[in-house]
Amino acid sequence: MGKIRVEGLKKSYGTNQVLKGIDMQVQEGEVVCLIGPSGSGKSTFLRCINRLEEITAGRVIVDDQDINDPKTDINKARENIGMVFQHFNLFPHFSVLKNIMFAPMELGKMDAAKARDTALGLLERVGLSYKADVFPNQLSGGQKQRVAIARALAMNPDVMLFDEPTSALDPEMVGEVLGVMKDLAREGMTMVIVTHEMGFAREVADRVVFMDGGYTVEEGPPEEVFGNPKNDRTISFLEKVL
Ligand code: ADP
Ligand code: MG
Repeated sequence: MGKIRVEGLKKSYGTNQVLKGIDMQVQEGEVVCLIGPSGSGKSTFLRCINRLEEITAGRVIVDDQDINDPKTDINKARENIGMVFQHFNLFPHFSVLKNIMFAPMELGKMDAAKARDTALGLLERVGLSYKADVFPNQLSGGQKQRVAIARALAMNPDVMLFDEPTSALDPEMVGEVLGVMKDLAREGMTMVIVTHEMGFAREVADRVVFMDGGYTVEEGPPEEVFGNPKNDRTISFLEKVL
């Protein structure tokens, strides 16, 4: 049974059909990297998984819960789905520690002492214990993104969604963020990652999915998609980015 099951997913904005019928299953512990040209619907697809977008047709099931069923408590479901964005989206007026403690406390998951312990443990995991008391504007981009990952992990999610987590970073900071993501993958986290880091996808992904024009055009193990792409559009995309 897939941890994430997407069936016949369509999404339109007005007359613009962005997702044209996507089927995808992600197994527990699987790392799926989503690649494809700008505008192909990758971000929209990710946002449909935790219902940041209302879908036009189809179904999205996470942990056996239909995300779009009116009976589903979407806030509860989202607690289980961590998301990391290109632009970090940290709370600027909270310290690093408080950024991580906020959701578990606000949602009544943890008392302050437990939230603090959890946050400190996560900061250690992402190598930023020494930044606990600073504010986001005192961090580099790579540090901000590592805090954003720690913050998403604080809710102890089953699934993590990443939307181009390194695209806004200076090149020298990409590695530290990918390193944290590699650790997560190794620990068995179920992850869907939109990325332009083909080297990372090749190394870490169990499966690579190429999206174009609102469809998943080709998918397979990274060796196959990168080493022996079959679809013309995949070939032409990879020629441009590799
Ligand atoms: P990608 O992440 O692959 O670059 P997106 O999912 O961001 O692609 O966008 C796919 C298409 O959907 C684009 O044509 C974009 O203009 C359109 N789109 C995305 N979000 C919205 C929105 N909130 N309202 C209207 N159109 C949107
Ligand atoms: Mg995008």
